[in-house]
Formats: sequence, C-alpha cells, structure tokens
Amino acid sequence: MLQLFPDRPTIEIVELTQCPYDSTPIDAEFMSGGSMLLTCPRCRAEWEWHGAWVRRIREPDRNAVVTRDEARHIEPAG
Ligand SMILES: [Zn+2]
Repeated sequence: MLQLFPDRPTIEIVELTQCPYDSTPIDAEFMSGGSMLLTCPRCRAEWEWHGAWVRRIREPDRNAVVTRDEARHIEPAG
C-alpha cells in the first residue's frame, strides 16, 4: 500500500495502514510540507504522519467503531 522508502527494510508507517480502532484500511494522502494525512474511512479518525512521528489530529467517532475485545487493549485511555 505505502511504499515510500523502498530502500528501507522496514517501513515505520506500516503500523498505521490499518485503523487501531476498527482495523479498517486507512486512506493516506500527501500534504504540503512532506507530511501525510491518514484517515480512517469508517470512524473518521485522522493522523498526521511526518518523518519519525505520528500524531492523532482527530478523535475517532466512537459510534462508528465496533467494540471488540482485541481492540480494547490497544488504547485503553481513549
Ligand atoms: Zn477507524
């Protein structure tokens, strides 16, 4: 899906190819300044990815997330 650095053996962003809340494949689009905007099409959560860090910029819509046991421990604080 995301092959930004094919010369690297590990791609950090691979961790965010799926939404951590509902495991939906995440849409990615390039932004000015070299950042990428990652958006979950299901719960509308958004992250900004830039270099070595990822920052969540919009909370997920909890009503759209199917609560599952395997997802609960990923981010207990919400
Ligand atoms: Zn989601």
